[in-house]
Amino acid sequence: MSVITIFPQMIEQYLASSVMGRATKRELLEVTVLDLRSFTDDPHRSIDDAPYGGGPGMLMMAEPMLRALSDPRVVAPVIGLSPIGKTFDQVDARALSSLAGFTLVCGRYEGFDARIEERCDRLLSIGDFVLAGGELAALVVIEATARLLEGVLGNETSAKDESFADDLLLEYPQYTRPREIDGAAVPEVLLSGDHGEVDRWRYAQRLVRTMQHRPDLIERRGGISEKEVEILH
Ligand code: SAM
Repeated sequence: MSVITIFPQMIEQYLASSVMGRATKRELLEVTVLDLRSFTDDPHRSIDDAPYGGGPGMLMMAEPMLRALSDPRVVAPVIGLSPIGKTFDQVDARALSSLAGFTLVCGRYEGFDARIEERCDRLLSIGDFVLAGGELAALVVIEATARLLEGVLGNETSAKDESFADDLLLEYPQYTRPREIDGAAVPEVLLSGDHGEVDRWRYAQRLVRTMQHRPDLIERRGGISEKEVEILH
């Protein structure tokens, strides 16, 4: 995948550490970072200008970005990061992880000249809030996508069992040592050694937690089935 940004080091530094760093070293993940300023042709390497019609702040100019988007390292689809885009979710992450590549375009200032948006295949937002720039959003998209690539997570089953898996349920609660802390004990079933019962309990917990915390997800998956109602009892 590729990223176009005016702060290449923000992307490169983050991707050099932890899970992403290991994935890059093992060549499971390859991110090409393009510095937007290298596509300028003036001595000041300008990438922003005042908006037509007036208004506060500056806009990302179309020309350097359109030049950058013609670079052979830019892989389709081109995804502009913008608060006006579709809210990025796990379904998008799964879809992106199955592509051979894609390009993320980071904005700054008051955002993009609209002709940049028009050149993008789609726009993605990481939530209903406004960041100072697209770099954090790009990293969110890259990490959520890359951890679904084969071999990136140590344990291949860990992505399957997580929140927002195919059935849209949240993850079950988990515990580690000690068995009790300030009167809060680990549920007996987890100590029982009965894997069937553990699985059943975990499934029930996923349903309960989703109903409690994210009723919108229950609605999106069309409610809960009769079999699931049985599991809850
Ligand atoms: N004026 C724009 C608006 O009101 O929609 C906000 C521009 S924001 C200050 C600058 C850049 O940060 C955007 O062009 C975009 O690339 C990025 N950005 C900000 N919030 C974002 C979000 N929620 N999701 C994705 N990118 C975001």
